[in-house]
Amino acid sequence: MPAEPTAPIPFGGAGAVTARFTSSTMAIDDATIERLRSTGSTVTREATQLAEASRDWWPLAMTWAGADQVAALAAAIVAPTTPEQVADVLRICNERGIPVTPAAGRSGVVGGSVPLFGGVLLDLCALRGIRSVDADSMVVDVLAGTFGDVFEEQLQAEHGLTVGHWPQSVALSTVGGWLACRGAGQLSNRYGKIEDIVVGLDVVLADGTMLTTGGHARQSAGPDLNQLFIGSEGTLGVITGARLRTHRIATANHRSAWSFPTFEAGADACRRISQRGLAPAALRLYDAAEADRSYSTGDVAVLLVFDEGDPEIVKAATAITEQECAGGKINATALDDSLVEKWLGHRNDVSSLEALISRGYVVDTMELTVAWADVDALYGTVRDAIAAVPGVMAASAHLSHSYSDGACLYFTFAGKPLEPTREATEALYMACWNEGTSAALRMGGSLSHHHGVGLNRARFMVDALGEGAMHTLEAIKAGLDPNGILNPGKLGFSSGFGVVPFPVEPGE
Ligand SMILES: Cc1cc2nc3c(=O)[nH]c(=O)nc-3n(C[C@H](O)[C@H](O)[C@H](O)COP(=O)(O)OP(=O)(O)OC[C@H]3O[C@@H](n4cnc5c(N)ncnc54)[C@H](O)[C@@H]3O)c2cc1C
Repeated sequence: MPAEPTAPIPFGGAGAVTARFTSSTMAIDDATIERLRSTGSTVTREATQLAEASRDWWPLAMTWAGADQVAALAAAIVAPTTPEQVADVLRICNERGIPVTPAAGRSGVVGGSVPLFGGVLLDLCALRGIRSVDADSMVVDVLAGTFGDVFEEQLQAEHGLTVGHWPQSVALSTVGGWLACRGAGQLSNRYGKIEDIVVGLDVVLADGTMLTTGGHARQSAGPDLNQLFIGSEGTLGVITGARLRTHRIATANHRSAWSFPTFEAGADACRRISQRGLAPAALRLYDAAEADRSYSTGDVAVLLVFDEGDPEIVKAATAITEQECAGGKINATALDDSLVEKWLGHRNDVSSLEALISRGYVVDTMELTVAWADVDALYGTVRDAIAAVPGVMAASAHLSHSYSDGACLYFTFAGKPLEPTREATEALYMACWNEGTSAALRMGGSLSHHHGVGLNRARFMVDALGEGAMHTLEAIKAGLDPNGILNPGKLGFSSGFGVVPFPVEPGE
C-alpha cells in the first residue's frame, strides 16, 4: 500500500485553518482548475486537505498548529500520476504565472514545501514505485514520490538489495525529497550521502521540458547536471524519477560503544578512524549532555560505532575502531555494546518533536559541517551561543557523520518562551537560529549538512555562500525558471510574487 504524508502535530480544531503569513497568495480561476484537471492529475480545493498539504515538519510552524494556523495556504492541490502529467501541469502554471510548490512526504524541517504565495501545491506522492532494477549494475530506477520505508522493503524483499539511505524520517519521506534536500541517512558514512548514491535523474523544468541527467558510472561531458538538481529544493525543476546505486544486504556487522572524558577527545578518535580510510556505517559521538539524556552514562562523551557489510570489510572496521578507540593517546573506555542496540531500536522514533512542542517548548535541531581543524572550537562556541539565549534550557550536540576532512555536528536546543505567547515563542525561536547560525558561520561551519535551507535558513544564504556564488545561483534560477514559478521564496531566492514573509518582525 502507498504510504502517505504523516501530519506533524494535530491542529487545535477550534475553527478553520488560516495563514500565519500575510503574504500575497495567488488564487486560481475555475477555467485554469479545469485545465489542470484535464492533464489527468487529481485536483482538490477542499479546505481540510489544503490546510494539511500546506504544512511540513518545520518546528516553528508546528507551534502555530494549536491556534489552527499554517504558514501559508495553497489555492489547489494538484497530484499528477505520471512524469508527463507533471510536465503538462507545469506548462499550464508557467503560462498562467501560477506559483508551484513541489511537496511529497512533507517531512522537511525548514518550511521547504510551504506554499508561500498560494497557487498550486504539486503533490508528488502518486508518482511511486520501483520501475526496474539492473541486477548486474546494481542500479534501481525508482519514481520520486516513493516513500523510503516502502521502497526499501520492496527492494530488499524482491531483489535482495538496499540503497542504504536511512534518514531518521525514512517512513515520513520520499526519494524525491531526499534528492531535493541533499539528505543524509544515519548510515551514510558507509553507503554515501544521497548525492553519492545517484546515477541519474528525470527532471521536469518550469516550462514543461523533460530531461534526464547523468546516467553513467562517471563521465566527462560538461558539469554534472545531477548535482545541479540535487539540493535545489524544488526551485530549479521537479524530480520525477532517479537511478540509484544499491548494495547487497549486509551479512556481518560490528557494534561497539566507547566513553571519552571529553567530546573533543571523542571527535579526535572519529577523525583518526576516518583518516585511516575507514567509513563505519555509523560513528555517532554524543556530548555528555546528550549521552546522559539517552543512555544515563554520566559526565562523559559516548561514541557508538556500528558497521555492516561484507564480513572481511567489517573485520577491518572492528580492528581499526578498536585500535583507534582503545589504543590511542586518549583515555577511551569500552562500554557495553547494548547501547548500540538501544540506538538501533529507537533511531526512527519521531515522536519527541510533537511531545515537546505541544507542552509549550521551543525546540529544533541545527546540523552543519565543519573541518576537523575547527570542530572543537565550533562545537563549544555554537552550543554556548544558543545556550546564552534567554529562555533556552538545553543546548547539546552529537557528531553524526565523519569524513576524511571534517564532520557533521548536529545541535539540539530546547527552551521555554518568557511568556506563553506566539510573539515570545517566535522571538525565542528566531534568536536561537540567529545566534547559532551566525556563530557557526563565523567559526567556518557550513549552513547545513542535510536538512537544507527552505524558508527557515533562506536569510543566511548570502553569508553562507558569498555574493558571487549566490549571484551564480540566481542566474541559473533565472535561466531555468524565468517566471520564477517554482517554489518561490525558498533557498534565499527573491520572488516576483512579493516580499518573502519570513523572518517575521516582532509583533507582526
Ligand atoms: C523527525 C525527523 C527526522 C528527520 N531525519 C532526517 C535525517 O536523518 N536525514 C535527512 O536528510 N533528513 C531528515 N529529516 C528531514 C526530512 O525528512 C528530509 O528533508 C526529507 O528528505 C524530505 O523528504 P520529503 O519527501 O518529506 O520532502 P518534502 O518535505 O515534501 O519537501 C522537501 C523539499 O523538497 C522539495 N521536493 C520534494 N520532492 C521533490 C521533487 N520530487 N522534486 C523537486 N523538489 C521536491 C520540496 O519543494 C521542498 O522544498 C527529518 C525530518 C523529521 C521530521
